[in-house]
This record gives sequence, structure tokens and C-alpha cells, in this order.
Amino acid sequence: MEMSDILIHWYREHKRELPWREVKDPYLIWISEVILQQTKVAQGREYFLRFTERFPNVPSLAEAEEDDVLKYWQGLGYYSRARHLHAAARSIMEHFGGHIPSDYHALRSLPGIGEYTAAAIVSFAWNKPYPVVDGNVFRVLARLFAINTPIDAGRGKKEITALATSLMNPQKAGLHNQAIMEFGALHCLPANPDCLHCALQTKCMGYASGSPQAYPVKQHKARTRSRYFHYLHVVCEGKTWLHRREKKDIWTGLYEFPLIETPEPADFVELQATETFRHLFSGAGQTAVSIVLPDVKHILSHQILYATFYRIEIETPTEAMQSYLQVSGETLNDYAIPRLIQIYLEKDGSA
Ligand code: SF4
Repeated sequence: MEMSDILIHWYREHKRELPWREVKDPYLIWISEVILQQTKVAQGREYFLRFTERFPNVPSLAEAEEDDVLKYWQGLGYYSRARHLHAAARSIMEHFGGHIPSDYHALRSLPGIGEYTAAAIVSFAWNKPYPVVDGNVFRVLARLFAINTPIDAGRGKKEITALATSLMNPQKAGLHNQAIMEFGALHCLPANPDCLHCALQTKCMGYASGSPQAYPVKQHKARTRSRYFHYLHVVCEGKTWLHRREKKDIWTGLYEFPLIETPEPADFVELQATETFRHLFSGAGQTAVSIVLPDVKHILSHQILYATFYRIEIETPTEAMQSYLQVSGETLNDYAIPRLIQIYLEKDGSA
């Protein structure tokens, strides 16, 4: 039997039942693939159901306010992906009459739709022979063919994409793609491939080499950067200060408390000496400060945030408050906020 047939046979027996399985609606495929690029299936399922209930099709997503879209994305991370979904929906309304294009290259022209997502949409919805090459597929193919070219180099990606194309049975493109992805997700696992019970064992060069886990080969480890965040949960006359992150950085478009970021760890005395702090609290009258949550370590891809949350109650509204939203406790949950702030609110009891 060909490898593709073995994978499809395995898939029919072992695939998980998921809300986006067997779906041919390109919109639902698109949303599910973007959500799954950043979260595990169990959590992704909840997000998918909630998101598609609120935005069931392209027009409803295109008409929504960005804040609303971000709110439904809250907690998933990579907020630029939510903004791209929104922008792409608007572009589909404007340029494609509200219909998701079935042409791979037209799809690629939309914001946030890369090779992977375009291939998933056209192959799952229209059975077009474009290979999906995600992390699972990279791993499975690198092992099956014992590929020594690093997959984080351009050459490695090309080599694996070419292999993925040649393996595919074009008559069953959608099924093949889903089968190989699911096989990587459930069977040929990163640290623990189940080689003993593998239908592809006799064809697998990685297994024959004696150390399948050595594949895929990687060239570089991604560097991580440490950042030190000091959040000031300011409360004045029963209201909390919030602002929207506008800069091109993590969490653009989400809401947060006044933030002071320092290049190194800093204590409260050092914070008080910063210009931002003095500007925020000049004329605040009596203040009561408490550290509510110190030293939270929050890991993002390529960044580690070390955050401390101070609750600061002030008597008099200051000049600086004019540039912040003043939000009452009950409406705080209406704003899309980063998971880190959510963690704090859950501890503080304000959530
Ligand atoms: S034999 Fe092992 S390494 Fe090879 S495809 Fe099967 S599970 Fe993966």
C-alpha cells in the first residue's frame, strides 16, 4: 500500500471527532485552522464554538467592531491573527463579493493567510492538491525519510514541502492532508512516537536509523527576551484606569492598566522615581499602595514577562487620568484584556 493510503486508513480508524471535521464550509475551516495554530485542540474547540456562534460567516465578521473580535479571541494570544481575520473578512466582502475565493493564490493575497492556511482551506473545502505543512507534518515527514536538512532553514522547508506534494494522492488531497496532520498529532508524537504499533514502521527510515526522535533536525533555538512589567491597578472614586495598547508590540488592541516597563527588575521605590510614575500621580493626594501579585512569570513565544501588580488607591483624579478610560468594576469584563491581566483579576477578585 502507498504511504498516503496507509495514512488515510489509519485516519479513518483513529481520527478525533471535532466540530470542524467533515466540514466543507471554507469559512469554518479557515477559523478552525487559525485557532488551532495557537492552541491545543481541547481549548480550541471552545473558542471555535464561541467564535463561530458570534461570527457565523464572513459578513458577520466583517461588520463587527475590532474590539468585539478581540474580545472573542481573548486568551488565545497572537492577537494580530484576530486582527488579520477581521481585515481579511472585510477584504473578502470588498473584493470577492463576500465569498471566500477557492483559488489558492487569491487566498494568499488576503491578510494573514499564509501557505499553510491557504492549503488547508483549498484542500479541505475543494479537495485541491496543495499540501499542508504544519509542525506535525514536518515531524512525520522528517522521520519517515530521515531528513538531515534542518527544518528551520529555507532548504529544509522546501525539501519537506516537495516531499509532502509528491506523497499526496491528488484525488484525495483533503483527506490525505487531514490524515497526516492527525497522525502527527496523535501517533508520531514529538518525544514519544509509538513506533511499535505504527502502520508505517516498515517504511520509516527514522525508525530504521534507531533514533526517530532525532528528527526533525533543527539549526537554531529561538532566542527569548526577558521583559519586566509593572502594572498599576489604579482605583479612584470606584473606577479603574485602563488604556488600549496601540503600539506594534504584543497585545496590540487589548486593554490594560497603566504599565511601566523597565529593562531590569525594579522595586517600588525605583518605579516611583520614573517619569511615567511621577506624571501619572502628580496631584493625586493621598495614596494607598499594596502589592497584590508579585513576580508573575508569563511565557510567550520568544518573550518571558516578569510582572508585578500594584493596587494603588488615590483620592483625587489627576491630570493624567484624562488620557485613560475610567471603568467601573462591573464593566471591566467587557474589555478584551491579555491573559496576564485576567490572572491578576482572578486573584484580586475583580474578575
Ligand atoms: S515508525 Fe515511529 S517515527 Fe516512524 S512514522 Fe511511525 S511513529 Fe513516526
